[in-house]
Formats: sequence, C-alpha cells, structure tokens
Amino acid sequence: MVASKLPISPLIKEYGKQHSKAYHAIYRAIERYDRIVVFRHIKPDFDAMGTQMGLVTFLKDNFPNKEIHFVGDNHVSFTPRLFPETEKLGNDFFEDRNFLAIVVDVGDKDRIADPRFVKAKYKVKIDHHPCKAEIAKTATVCDLDMAAASELVCDLLLNWKGKFISPEAARYFYIGLVGDSGRFLFSSTSPHTFAVAQALLDTGFDMRKTYLDMYEKSIDSLRSLAYVLSNFKVSEHGVAYYTLPASVQTQLHITPELGKEHVNTFSNIEGINAWCSITEDPNPKDYCWRISIRSKEVNISGVANKWGGGGHDLASGARIDRIEDLDAFIADLDALFVPAQ
Ligand code: AMP
Repeated sequence: MVASKLPISPLIKEYGKQHSKAYHAIYRAIERYDRIVVFRHIKPDFDAMGTQMGLVTFLKDNFPNKEIHFVGDNHVSFTPRLFPETEKLGNDFFEDRNFLAIVVDVGDKDRIADPRFVKAKYKVKIDHHPCKAEIAKTATVCDLDMAAASELVCDLLLNWKGKFISPEAARYFYIGLVGDSGRFLFSSTSPHTFAVAQALLDTGFDMRKTYLDMYEKSIDSLRSLAYVLSNFKVSEHGVAYYTLPASVQTQLHITPELGKEHVNTFSNIEGINAWCSITEDPNPKDYCWRISIRSKEVNISGVANKWGGGGHDLASGARIDRIEDLDAFIADLDALFVPAQ
C-alpha cells in the first residue's frame, strides 16, 4: 500500500533498477534488525533533518514492532517548529551492539552528529556528498548528482514494494528536497527531483503550511539582512562576502548558526561568481570563523577542503581559525575566477 495514489514515475523505477543490488542489501538490513538508529550530520540543515525524520517516520509507520531512534544536535530554530527535538538516547542503549545504524546525508565519519554509530553491528549509508573515508562498505548508496539526500532516500523507499510513505513522512522529505535544491533552483535539480516531489505532494500534506514553516522570517532576520546588504565586500574577480563578528551577532540578536542565513542573497547578481558568509563562532571549545561558500558554476570544493572543510561543487563549508587568515582565504577563492589569458 502506497499513500501516494499516482503510479510511481518510470524515472524512479529505472533508477531503482540500476541500484537494485545496494537497495536490496539495505532492505534486508532493515528487515533483519529490530533496533534501528538513524544518524545524520552535525549542524543540521533542512535536508539533514528532513531526511532523518522522514526515514524515522517511514520506519515507524511500516515497522510498528521495531524500536526506531534518531540522534544528533538540534538546530537553533528548526526545533520544535519544523522537527521534533532530537532524542536523548542513553549509553545503555548502545551497550547491546545488536542494532542497525542508518547514516543519511553525510559522507565523512567525523561529521556524523553522534559518534556512537560505530557501535552498530551493521551500518547503512545513503548520501549525496563526496566522501573521504567510507563508513559502510556493504550497504551504501551515494550519488553526488542527487539534489538532496532526501531525493535518494525517497527513491529507495518508493521502489520498496508493499510499503508506504505517509503524509507526515512526505512532509519531512519534502523539506529536505526543497531545502537542498534551493527551491528547485540549483543545477542539481533534475527531472528525477520533480518525480520525487510529485510522489511526495501526492500524499496530500499541506504544502503551503510547510513553506510557511520553512521560510517565515522574524523582524530580527530582516535587520540582519539589512546589515549584510550594508556591509558586504566584493573581491577583484567577483567573490562577494560578509563577516559577522560575535559583537555584531549580539547586536542583531542572532547566533553563529544563523550567520549563513542570507548567503544566497548574492546568487543572482551579475558579476558575482561566488559568495560566502564568514561568521565568528566564539565557542571556547572550538573557536573559529565558520564559512559557507556558494558558487554560480565553478567548483569551489577544493578551496573548502584546503580550508578545513568540504562539501559539494557549488555549496561547501570551511573555516578559518583567525580573522587574519581571511584575506588569504578570499584570495584562494578569487584565484578561481581570474579570466584565462
Ligand atoms: P553549509 O555552508 O554549512 O551549509 O555547508 C554546505 C554543504 O557543505 C553542506 O552540504 C554541508 O553538509 C557541506 N559541508 C559543510 N562543511 C563541511 C565539512 N567540513 N566537510 C564536508 N562537508 C561539509
């Protein structure tokens, strides 16, 4: 039984056929384990939390006798508005290693929001990030061309005969899909992305209310946008950037998690090739300036890797430990856009 009434798109069926070996390994693992924990990346975004909660809801709906958990850090403003508070799962649960870890929307081990995934007897990974060190060798599906991790997880679930995606699960997955595809604007958006969106919308969840929950802004957010627009700089070859020192965050009533909120303000500006937010994170345990980098068409992930981060070709994260390094970081990005002689 599928909550969606439309037949599954041939694009989804075809993709499922191409990945049937990995998909079957994942189905078997889910069927085999009675205790399952779903993990995702630290500092979650719409896709990390949407994919995690969509999958958790799907598993609870379709396997009511299994014990399903979700762990990780909360987002400063997503919970409880868009997603429930993350569970506080005690260490006693992990003493019995007979459980399945499903890791979504993260490739690298050190970015998984709860290190206890290592204790799982079996691990599954479903992701769309480049990966330096593989977590799960046996049951992995990773596709860098997917607009969102939720797009890939939905493809897997829609190809699973006899199971259904409820409107509640669909709403979570849709949040991930819309979030990571930039509302279907980014170049990663494909016919397959729309096929998944169609199947999710067909479950009948309230799309208008979901958009409101995702994008409604506070007056403080408007004031921080005004600050960004009055203080951004542009490098010689078209890198736009703004810095948010801790003192400014205090004035604007924002926390470091919200520093990147307005980064895409620069996405459609003529002559701007890449854009970034640089936000001071005064956390004494890990002091740094967090950087979110976005690019129109040139791959910026190499620069992100060099500066302590990583991510996708056109959307990556990085960091500098001292503001004195900012000029060198911007120079590295700027160098990507020097016109060929
Ligand atoms: P952000 O700027 O934090 O929104 O990150 C943009 C994209 O890059 C997201 O898909 C992140 O998961 C990814 N990303 C951010 N920081 C890192 C990192 N240190 N290593 C690998 N991927 C990252």
